[in-house]
Parts: sequence; C-alpha cells; structure tokens
Amino acid sequence: MIFPVAILVSMVMLVASVLYEMKQQGAWIFAEETEKQKGRSPRSDERLAGETKLSELVSSVTPGTIVGALFCEISQIKLVNDIYGYSVGEKLLDIIAERFQARIPENSFLVRFGDEFLLGVSGVKTVQDLKYLAVQLIESLSEPVALEEIGEQFTTCHIGISWTKDRDHDASHLLRDARTARYLATKTDDRETRFVVFNEAGKEEAFRRLEVERELRLAVRNQQLVIYYQAIVDANTTQVVCYEALIRWDHPEKGIIAPAVFLPIASESDLIVEIGDYVLEHGCEQVANWQRTLSAPVKLAVNLAERQLLQHGFLEKISKYIALSGIDPKDLELEISEEMLAENLDRSKNILLELQRMGITLSIDDFGTSQASLTRLKSLSMVSTLKLDRIFVKDITFNKVDHAMASAMTQMAKSMGINVVAEGVEEQDQAQALQEMGVDYLQGFLFHRPESAKTLNIFSSQQSTLQL
Ligand code: C2E
Ligand code: CA
Ligand code: CA
Repeated sequence: MIFPVAILVSMVMLVASVLYEMKQQGAWIFAEETEKQKGRSPRSDERLAGETKLSELVSSVTPGTIVGALFCEISQIKLVNDIYGYSVGEKLLDIIAERFQARIPENSFLVRFGDEFLLGVSGVKTVQDLKYLAVQLIESLSEPVALEEIGEQFTTCHIGISWTKDRDHDASHLLRDARTARYLATKTDDRETRFVVFNEAGKEEAFRRLEVERELRLAVRNQQLVIYYQAIVDANTTQVVCYEALIRWDHPEKGIIAPAVFLPIASESDLIVEIGDYVLEHGCEQVANWQRTLSAPVKLAVNLAERQLLQHGFLEKISKYIALSGIDPKDLELEISEEMLAENLDRSKNILLELQRMGITLSIDDFGTSQASLTRLKSLSMVSTLKLDRIFVKDITFNKVDHAMASAMTQMAKSMGINVVAEGVEEQDQAQALQEMGVDYLQGFLFHRPESAKTLNIFSSQQSTLQL
C-alpha cells in the first residue's frame, strides 16, 4: 500500500522527534539565538529610573527577605525591529509589558530598559521565589501577540536574576550582575530553562565569551579565517560531486580552532555575516579556480547562518559573488539547517524561492534533528537535497531503529524527488548500508577529511579509491 506523502511525512516526523529526544537524553538542543541585532540602547533616563528604584528597594530590605533584579530580554524583538521597524517593535513591547505587569507581585516595579525589561522585586523570602516569578513571566508569553501590522507573533524571553539580602548592596552592581546572568541565559543549552541566577563562575564565562568575540573580530580583520573543504561523493561511483566549505580559525597561538567554538559567539553579532560573506566570496573563487584547472564542473556547498539569510541585500550579495567568480549558479548549493527552517520558514520562504529562481540549489542540513519542520517539507518545493544528520548514521549498522529511521527518511525524500546525502560516514559498513537503502550521496571521514585548499590535491581527490 502506498501512503500519501503527508501521512508518511508526519509519521517520520513523529518518530524522528522521539528518537532525537531520546538521543539527547531529554535535553533539547538550544536554538542558537542568532536574531540579536543592534537594538535600542537604554536611554539615560531609563537607566537612572531603573537604578534609583532598585536602590530604594535594596535600602529598605527587611531581615528574612531579599531583593531581586530580573533582566528580561525578548528574543525576537531585534528581528521585529529590523524587519518591520521600531514602531511595530514598540507595540509588541507594550503588549508584553502589560502581560508582565499582570504577573508581578506587590512591592515590585517593572521598567523598560532599551529593548529589555527590568523587574525589581522585594518582600520575597528565597531565590526560589524569584525563579518562580521568572517562570511566570516566561509562561505569560506562551500565547502569541496579535499585531495589526504583522499578524500573530510568537515571543520568548531570557531572564537573568541577581539578588541581595544586604541593604548596603550597590544597586548598580545588582543590575550589572542581572545583565550578566541574562547574557548567560541566552546561551543556555537547555531550551526549557530560559533563566539564569547570577553567580561568580557565570561572570567568568561571560567575560570569556566577550574576550573570544573581541579576538574573533581581530581575526576576521587579520585574515586568520581559513576555509576547509570536505568532499561529498556519489554513493554508487564514489566520484566527488561537491565540496562543502567548512570554516576554521587559524589562531596564531592556539592553532586551528573548530567552528563549534567560535560560530556560536559570532552568531550573537554581525560577525557571523562577515564570516559568512568571507566563505561565500572565497569559496566561489576557489571553486572557479578548480573548475578551470579540471575543466569539469565542481560544486560548492556553503553553510548559511540564519542572520545571513535574513539580512537585507542578501540576494544581491550572492549574485555579486557568483558574478565575480564566474561560476554557474547551479554549481552553488546553500545549506540551511532544519532548525532554522522550523523557526523562520514564513520569513525565509520568499528568499529561498528567489535563490531557486536564480538557479542556486538548496539543501536542508542536519535533517532529522529538529522536531518541528518535517511536516513542512511538503511546502519546501524549492529544496533539492536533504542532508541526513550524523546522529542517524553513527549506529546504523547495529541499531535497528536508526536504520529504520534513516531508511524511512530516505524513502520519504525520494518519493518527493529530493536527493539524500548522508553525513558523518566513517566506516565502510555504514556506507554500504546507506547505499543499499538508496541514499544518493555520502560525506564523511571514510572518504575525505576536511582540508584547506592549499593541502587538498584536487586531481587525486576527485575519485575515491574506495569500492563499496
Ligand atoms: P555541518 O554543516 O553539519 O558540517 C559537518 C561537520 O561534520 C563538520 O564539522 C565536519 O568536519 C564534520 N564531519 C564530517 N565528516 C565527519 C565524520 O565522518 N565524522 C565526524 N565525527 N564528523 C564529520 P565542522 O567543520 O567542525 O563544522 C561544524 C559545524 O559548523 C557545521 O556542521 C556547520 O553547521 C558549521 N559551519 C562550518 N562552517 C560554517 C560556515 O562557513 N558558516 C556557517 N554558518 N556554519 C558553518
Ligand atoms: Ca553543512
Ligand atoms: Ca550537517
């Protein structure tokens, strides 16, 4: 019996999400918050009002009670400001303020602090009470906000908490520590816990991140970023069909640093766009060089960050890099993570359609790792490739569930005319199993490790010597 595609998609989605959740042992992968852009800074009167009110609470703290400062950032606000303008952002914040106001206890105050909120609380007895309040604020955003201009907007927030029982405590320090904790809350790997209570160890982590960001800015300027390339091979012939560009930081003292260390930090600012531009421009140039050397088409796959895709003028930039290098648009494939699509499909759909119209191919990266977007696959007609995440490939030869999942996803993709690439293939038996289930392309250390253009020998790397 042939299942209708929609039912098959839903079934696979359900199993994939359960399996993935099991694999993560209950911890959802935290959606990197990449939408933070230049927001409205707190005005000096807001800053003053917040600090004055907080110091009043602190100086009147009574024995057996504590004063808390909760700094609350709305994750989507900067993106809303950027896309729809500040007036829409302000309306959104007004509605959120009303919701927060309805939940805060007596003897407390709520003030705007630029694009954020500061909540000062007194009369509570324990830190647990402050945590409970944070949960209440987070819950108050569970329903979307309806705005005339943009329709329904879902919002989430991150909260940093600091507290004192000492009436001589400096309110400005309390404020500073709540901000540090808020900063760390946005980095938490735990999707459920969107708040962090300040402690000294956390402060060190925040400073470390700021230091990395500062160094990374210099690294971009001093051209310490290097693109590594990893081949993707045809599952039947093991012929190389494409090279994926993977960024590295060649640190003068620490050596080669993996993207997992610095991309999350770069994603918090415009740095990720700068890095993305670098990869696109130099990747296209490199592939054009290889094509001239080989007189054969070589494809390039480039990973895209959410902020890159949603930036103004992205399409023009892509056209420019293609034109400058002289490559054919069909030789460029852009990889978009499944999680990114799950969270931003409505906004990115037109851009993706336009990219497709330009002749660029699109693939979904890390397929199977996000719970939300598989059902949307049927509305993603512009996508030509799925990259099956390594998590399904790792144990495929002995784990029946993983094998069944990989196979179901492959069948589903193929029934929709979509190609499948399996990621992270390290062993011959895995490659064999994937080839037998109909996976079209393979990528992994078994075939090629990522290497720089300097060391990669384009002639010998073209054909893998492996026979499956
Ligand atoms: P990804 O796009 O899923 O890339 C595949 C990652 O798996 C790469 O890690 C690659 O080195 C690694 N890998 C490939 N084959 C194997 C294998 O057989 N076994 C194992 N264990 N690993 C394998 P890498 O280079 O550290 O990149 C990590 C992630 O960083 C990438 O995951 C991608 O999401 C991101 N990234 C890398 N370069 C860029 C970039 O230029 N822009 C953006 N936005 N993200 C990038
Ligand atoms: Ca990728
Ligand atoms: Ca991947």
